[in-house]
Amino acid sequence: MLWVRSIVEQVQRAAALAERQQRAARGVQPRQWDLDALPIRTRKASTQRRQAADIELVVVHVTAVRGGFGVQRWGPEGWQTWLGRVRAGDVPAPILAQLARHELDQQDEQELARRLALWCRYRNTPYHQIATRTGDSLANRRLSERSWHGNAGNVGVGFAVDCSPTETCDGILRQTAIAAFRRLVERLRDAGNKHKLQVAPHRAFSAQRRGDTGREVWRQVVRPAVAELDGVDVDLDLRVGNGRPVPRSWDPQANHDDRGREIAADD
Ligand SMILES: [Zn+2]
Repeated sequence: MLWVRSIVEQVQRAAALAERQQRAARGVQPRQWDLDALPIRTRKASTQRRQAADIELVVVHVTAVRGGFGVQRWGPEGWQTWLGRVRAGDVPAPILAQLARHELDQQDEQELARRLALWCRYRNTPYHQIATRTGDSLANRRLSERSWHGNAGNVGVGFAVDCSPTETCDGILRQTAIAAFRRLVERLRDAGNKHKLQVAPHRAFSAQRRGDTGREVWRQVVRPAVAELDGVDVDLDLRVGNGRPVPRSWDPQANHDDRGREIAADD
């Protein structure tokens, strides 16, 4: 059935190209940020190092926060704390340079403090690249840092869309997410990674994360993003440990049902 697959792939690529052209015409360009200069305060921070060039797996997540992450007011990374730092000129230089590049350096102090506080919250999540609802694509962790969240999937890099599994993912969030996924692959290639990359949802690695990513992000983000990239493919059958493969309720090409049972070819 290889020819069927190749026709499906051609159709998907054509659709992806059409969408890319449409997006370019509309001029929606998510902002790319690198958060490396911000502190990480979680104990789950990376302890293991690896070579980004050796990575072969991208694990896709939703943050599972309905409506997306909010901003804390207090605490070491709260916006009030950041407001003090902004006023004292105590913002990391690489962050200031990026704000200037995106012409957000003249932003109202409070807005800037909120932005920094929000980024610090993202920074403590274990994903390497995150798409936000405000049109920001965040390079959140170094690819060489193994993070802790995706069980056996931690050998790969983590990509997350800031939504819950049951929310719709459209508009800016969807466009940002597709661009952020593309950026993650670019970062891997920039690090000398020449591997064929396999893409799987968190579900494939954990029974507790059965709904991660959920159908919406899988269909609206992962499939179109993968279709437009060379050397990147979804692994619909992957299951590790007590994880379950991508179910057909998410993906018409999947070979398993919600419970992880294989669906017979003539079903
Ligand atoms: Zn997850």
